[in-house]
Amino acid sequence: MAQTFDIVVIGAGPAGGAAAFTAARAGLRVALIDRKAFPRDKLCGGLVTGRARRHYAEIFGHEMPFGPEDRKTTVDFRFRGAPMGVISDAPALCATMRRDMDAMICAQALGTGAVDFTGVSVAEIDVKAKALTLKDGRRIGFDVLIGADGANSQVAKALFGQAFDRAEVGFGLEIEAGGDHVDPSAPIRIDLAAAKWGYGWSFPKRCSTTIGVGGLLAKNPDMKVAMAEYCALLGVEAETRSFKGQFLPFGDFRKVPGQGAVLLAGDAAGLVDPITGEGIGYALHSGQLAAEAGIEALKRARPETALALYRRHLRPIHRALRMARMIRPVIFLPAMEAGFARAFRRSSTLRMQYLRLMAGEVEYGDILARVILRLPRLTVLAIRARF
Ligand SMILES: Cc1cc2nc3c(=O)[nH]c(=O)nc-3n(C[C@H](O)[C@H](O)[C@H](O)COP(=O)(O)OP(=O)(O)OC[C@H]3O[C@@H](n4cnc5c(N)ncnc54)[C@H](O)[C@@H]3O)c2cc1C
Repeated sequence: MAQTFDIVVIGAGPAGGAAAFTAARAGLRVALIDRKAFPRDKLCGGLVTGRARRHYAEIFGHEMPFGPEDRKTTVDFRFRGAPMGVISDAPALCATMRRDMDAMICAQALGTGAVDFTGVSVAEIDVKAKALTLKDGRRIGFDVLIGADGANSQVAKALFGQAFDRAEVGFGLEIEAGGDHVDPSAPIRIDLAAAKWGYGWSFPKRCSTTIGVGGLLAKNPDMKVAMAEYCALLGVEAETRSFKGQFLPFGDFRKVPGQGAVLLAGDAAGLVDPITGEGIGYALHSGQLAAEAGIEALKRARPETALALYRRHLRPIHRALRMARMIRPVIFLPAMEAGFARAFRRSSTLRMQYLRLMAGEVEYGDILARVILRLPRLTVLAIRARF
């Protein structure tokens, strides 16, 4: 006998947690499913931008809790290891551990009334029958299904046959460096060109420093080499086998994020910034928007209209990601990257704009205008370039 819910959410990360919280707070019967029990680890830099914090506060009605030592305002930019400038009064970025942050988000969704199906995987999704089966045999029916199950989304596979396009997807490797490498007062470090069409990062936290490289998978067939070189550059001894990797939909968003009453949110919908790799903010926001679309469709007693409503809500995010994709070659195209690094080194305004973008204080439209002004020739070439 199936249990049925108004909205079933698969995935209890930032997208699924935000979706389940929003739907449960609206009084709907909500199920929240995750194959892992929380707290659980999630490979991620864990850097939370001002934009993400704004969405979090809008959804949950309070500021995201952080200790003062998690707040970072100094960012050290590098290009191939050489300094490109330090900004010491950046809009605050917060260095979190996803294990803690996601457990807090999931607990809020469950505390608001979402029924707890964490710690169990989904075995099968029957979109036509509007039902799914869990690995333990339980069957769950839904009016609206939200797939917030990450880059390797089972829901996206059920709808479209594959979760992402290997030609477009990104990939990241990380380690947590402990011992001598723990220094929460150190600046955030971003190394352009540490990976092709991507970058390297060092995010100092209370108990470790999260070090990683990430970029387009197709341009980095051996990302482990890039990671080993980056660790060597930072003076971190690390065995290749300790590198952990994960796909990242690096700007390859789904133009149609679902089908009828089935919606995709967060990484499952490909909502990651194609320049910075930021995904937490878009995950929170799209989870909220997916739930709101589901709520509206159910109010009209027409769950199949959820996708049309959701697509309308998502337009500003899609517009921003499209613009970022236009700018991306100026930063990452091999013929352009040295020129970009020079401009970045010379211009504290450009560096600050990058950080203000991450804070959600400016949008890609503003940046595009500035880039075109600063680098007219390069920009025209980049936009024309086939990449
Ligand atoms: C190496 C790396 C570094 C990154 N660094 C940053 C950063 O510093 N800042 C930033 O903003 N973004 C960063 N990102 C991106 C960010 O991690 C993602 O965009 C974000 O986690 C997306 O959230 P989500 O809720 O959509 O998916 P996820 O956080 O991936 O959550 C998906 C959930 O679904 C569950 N799930 C998956 N499949 C199933 C299934 N079949 N059944 C049930 N449950 C399932 C998983 O267990 C998981 O809990 C990084 C990504 C990578 C790979």
